[in-house]
Amino acid sequence: MIKKPFYFIAGPCAVESEDQFKKTLKYVLESGVKYVRVGAYKPRTSPDSFQGLGKAAFHFISKLKNKYNFQIVSEIVGESDFKDMETHVDIFQVGARNMFNYSLLKFLQRNTEKKILFKRSFSATIPEYLNAAKYLENKKKDNLILCLRGIRTFEQIGSSLRYTPDLGSILEVKKMTHYPVIFDPSHATGVSEFVAPAALAALAIGADGLMIETTSSPCDALCDGKQSLDKKQFKHLVTGVKKYVKHF
Ligand code: PEP
Ligand code: MN
Repeated sequence: MIKKPFYFIAGPCAVESEDQFKKTLKYVLESGVKYVRVGAYKPRTSPDSFQGLGKAAFHFISKLKNKYNFQIVSEIVGESDFKDMETHVDIFQVGARNMFNYSLLKFLQRNTEKKILFKRSFSATIPEYLNAAKYLENKKKDNLILCLRGIRTFEQIGSSLRYTPDLGSILEVKKMTHYPVIFDPSHATGVSEFVAPAALAALAIGADGLMIETTSSPCDALCDGKQSLDKKQFKHLVTGVKKYVKHF
């Protein structure tokens, strides 16, 4: 059995509407999950893709948070969004694309005492990742959750994998740090049917948590539908996770 703290974070890649978020929140909370992904500001590869609802998302999400009492995990893509996010967010996420953005990392270190979920860049070595994490460290308290999310290799050529799941790195990163090391099988694989097996493999080798993309209707998703679990797939994953950890 995995010892606490265990971070099971789940929710849609992006918050797209109040209806989508409410439907997803319902089954995510029913499963016992307390940390919910709230993708309000999305770092998208193409400027033509949906960029997230931005601060408008927090208008209805803060009401739902008051009612259902869950923890909000949300990505900050730039300093200018900090003020709008600060009052709502419990855990700031720094995404793979910003792992090397030292000025954002230093800004967060100076401006927040909240926990930070820090994702490995798909092109970062482990020492680069762990050095970057030091920019965020709060010397007075354990404020970091490290998240491995797949790296770029030649495995993507001619295959359906979005990245190479960096499972072995869980072993190495856990040896190098005292912070919880969690795994994101959604981005690591990019394929919904691969998400649960990769998630359980990560737990089998000692991950301290999971970040999972799930949404009420993956085929309608504006962002990462291909890798998002629907309600049934998500509940199935939760049953598997409970073999490793009873409460999360
Ligand atoms: C995300 O988790 O919403 C995300 C964009 O992932 P990553 O930064 O790992 O690409
Ligand atoms: Mn995503």
